[in-house]
Amino acid sequence: KLHNTILELKGNIRVFCRVRPLLPDDGVTEATVIAYPTSTEALGRGIDLIQSGQKYPFTFDKVFSHEASQQDVFIEISQLVQSALDGYKVCIFAYGQTGSGKTYTMMGRPETPEQKGLIPRSLEQIFQASQSLQVQGWKYKMQASMLEIYNETIRDLLSTTRSSGLDISRTENGVPGKQYTIKHDVNGNTHVSDLTIVDVCSINEISSLLQVAAQSRSVGRTQMNEQSSRSHLVFTLRISGVNENTEQQVQGVLNLIDLAGSERLSKSGSTGDRLKETQAINKSLSSLADVIFALAKKEDHVPFRNSKLTYLLQPCLGGDSKTLMFVNISPDPSSIGESLCSLRFAAKSQ
Ligand code: ADP
Ligand code: MG
Repeated sequence: KLHNTILELKGNIRVFCRVRPLLPDDGVTEATVIAYPTSTEALGRGIDLIQSGQKYPFTFDKVFSHEASQQDVFIEISQLVQSALDGYKVCIFAYGQTGSGKTYTMMGRPETPEQKGLIPRSLEQIFQASQSLQVQGWKYKMQASMLEIYNETIRDLLSTTRSSGLDISRTENGVPGKQYTIKHDVNGNTHVSDLTIVDVCSINEISSLLQVAAQSRSVGRTQMNEQSSRSHLVFTLRISGVNENTEQQVQGVLNLIDLAGSERLSKSGSTGDRLKETQAINKSLSSLADVIFALAKKEDHVPFRNSKLTYLLQPCLGGDSKTLMFVNISPDPSSIGESLCSLRFAAKSQ
C-alpha cells in the first residue's frame, strides 16, 4: 500500500512474549525466576519455563525479559502501528492471567512518561506521523472509541467524555436505551450503535481521552474479583486519510485490546453468579482462541460469530489485516501452571 511500509509477516498472527519483573507483592524474596528469556538480552526469541526441574522451551517472534522498558517494547511495534496510517486494519492483543502485566503493557502508567504503555505511545506516534505527512498533501481524520466487554455485554468507556470538553462527533444512531449493537457494513467498517466516538484533533486531547478511560477502568494491579480483570477492553482508533494532491484515500483501523484474565475456572473459586460470569469470560476467550487457531491454520471457516469480541473485531482479523498478540507472563513460582497454559496457547496461535 502507501508509504512503503514493509512488514515481514509469516502468517496472520505474530506473537510477542513479555515477562514482567518480580514484584514485592509476589511474596518471593529471592528472584526465583521460573520463566526467563533464553537470551540474556532484554529482547530475544526464546523462553524457557522450568517446572520441577523440567524445562519447557518456547520460541516466539520476540521475547521481552523483565528488563525490557516500555520504550523497548514500543519500538518493536511502532511499524505495525504506523501501518494503520497506510490503511491497514491492525489488532494488538494482550493475553495472560490476571497480574501478568497486560494493562501495564497496553496502558502503563500514563502519568509517568517512561512508563506509558502502548496505547498512549501509539496515539502519539500516529498523531505526529499524520502531521508530518501533511506536507505531502495528506489530511487525516481520527476518531477514537473505547469499550469494555463484560459478560458478553458492551459498556461504553467514553460516555462520560461529554463533561470533559472533548469533541464528540456523534454517537451512532443516537437512540436512547443504549443497544450497542454490532454491525459491519459492505466496506468492512464496524459500527456499534450508541457508542461514543471522539474526534482526536490534537495531542492534548489524547491525554484527556486517556484520563477519562483511566477513570472508567483502573490501571493498577487488579484483585481476582475486580471487574477489570474479567472484562476485555477494546480501544479503537479509526483513521481516514485523503491526499489533496492525488485524491488518494485510505481508511485504517488500530485496535488495542487488553483481554480478560486467562486464569482457569478453579483458581477463581467460582460459584453461582460468579461461576456463570467466569464461564462467560472463558467462553469468550476460548472463542477468540478458536478464531486465532483457525486463522493460524488458514482454515476456510473462521467462527467469528461465537462471541461479541470476535464478532466486533471480525473485519480487523484475517484477510490482509495485521494481528499481533502479546502473551504476558508472571515470573513468580505460584503462577507456573497458568504461565505454562499461556505459553502453550500462544505457541499454538503462531
Ligand atoms: P494485568 O493487567 O495482566 O492484570 P497489570 O498490568 O495490572 O496486570 O500488572 C500487575 C502489576 O505488575 C501492576 O502493579 C503493574 O504495574 C506491574 N507490572 C506489570 N508489568 C510490569 C513491568 N514490565 N514493569 C514494572 N511493573 C510491571
Ligand atoms: Mg489488567
